[in-house]
Amino acid sequence: MLRLGIVLLLSIFGWSAQSQTITILIDPGHGGSDPGHESINTSHKSEKELNLIIAKKFGTYLTEKLSNVTVLYTRTDDSFPSLDDRVDMANSKKVDYFISIHCNGSPNTGIHGTESHVHSMTSRKSVKLAKEFEKEFGGKAGRKSRGVKDTDDREHSLQVLKFTEMTSVLVECGFLTNETEANYLNSTYGQDILASALFRGMRTYLQEEHPAIQFTKTSTPAATASETSSTTSTSSTYTVQIMSSKEPIETTATSFKKLDKTVVREKIAETGYKYRYVVGSFTTKEAAEDYKDEVRQKGFPDAIVITKKKT
Ligand SMILES: [Zn+2]
Repeated sequence: MLRLGIVLLLSIFGWSAQSQTITILIDPGHGGSDPGHESINTSHKSEKELNLIIAKKFGTYLTEKLSNVTVLYTRTDDSFPSLDDRVDMANSKKVDYFISIHCNGSPNTGIHGTESHVHSMTSRKSVKLAKEFEKEFGGKAGRKSRGVKDTDDREHSLQVLKFTEMTSVLVECGFLTNETEANYLNSTYGQDILASALFRGMRTYLQEEHPAIQFTKTSTPAATASETSSTTSTSSTYTVQIMSSKEPIETTATSFKKLDKTVVREKIAETGYKYRYVVGSFTTKEAAEDYKDEVRQKGFPDAIVITKKKT
C-alpha cells in the first residue's frame, strides 16, 4: 500500500522513467606532466591537448543536442588526475557511461586509424557502444576503423576499463605517429569530425539502449512561439552564416570551396565586422540546423543558423 502511494506520488509529480537522466563521464586521457603520445611533427599539439579538445567538443555536442543527458569530465584543464582518481570518480559518482578519449602512437609510422577499446568482449554494452563509435568513424567520418579491441587483443588490461563499474570504452582517435593522421588530428576540421562521430555513435547507442528516455530535444515554448508568429505573419527562410569579417573576402576563396553550396557575402555594418558570409536557403529551421552541423565539420566552427524574412 505504501509502495503504491509512492508510485502514485511519483507519477503525479512526473518522476517517471521518462525523466531519468543519463550521466556520461568523459575522460580526456593524460594531462599535466604526462603528455601522452607526441606527434611526428614537433610543432603539433601533444596527445593530452588533443584529447582535451576532442573530449570537450564531444561533451558540448551531447549537452547541446540531447536532453536528459548530464556530461561530466575527469579534467577540463591541463591537470593530471591519476588513473585511480579517474576510476574513483566514475564509481563514486555512479555514472552510467565512462568514455576515455586518447590518440594513439606506434613505432610503425604507416599505421593509422581509430580503435575503440573495451575491457572484455563479454561486456555486451561496452562492446555495443564501441562498435557504434567505430561504425561512425569508418562511415560518415571517413576514417580507417581498426575495430573494437579487448584485453586479449592488447595483451594487457587498461586500468580505467578494468576497474570502472559501468559501461566503459576507451577511444583511440588516430595515430599521432602517422604524418597524415597527425595533421588531421591537429586540425579543427578533424577534431570536429571525430567529436561528431563520437556524438552520433553515443546518440544511436543511447536511443537503442534506453527507449523510454526522450533524448531528442523538444523546442522551448519561447522558440515555438516565435517560429509560429514568424510563419503566420511573414514567411521566413533560414540560412547558415559561416563567418564574418572586417575586410571583404572573395566568395571564390579556397576555404569556401569545401562547401557544396554557393557562398554569398552580405554587407551588414559600416564599421567593425562589416561582412557576413551565408550559404544555403532552407524552409525549416531543422534543415538549416543539419546543414550548419555539416558546415561546422567542414572547417567553420562558428557557423550559426539565421532567419531571413522574405520580402
Ligand atoms: Zn593515451
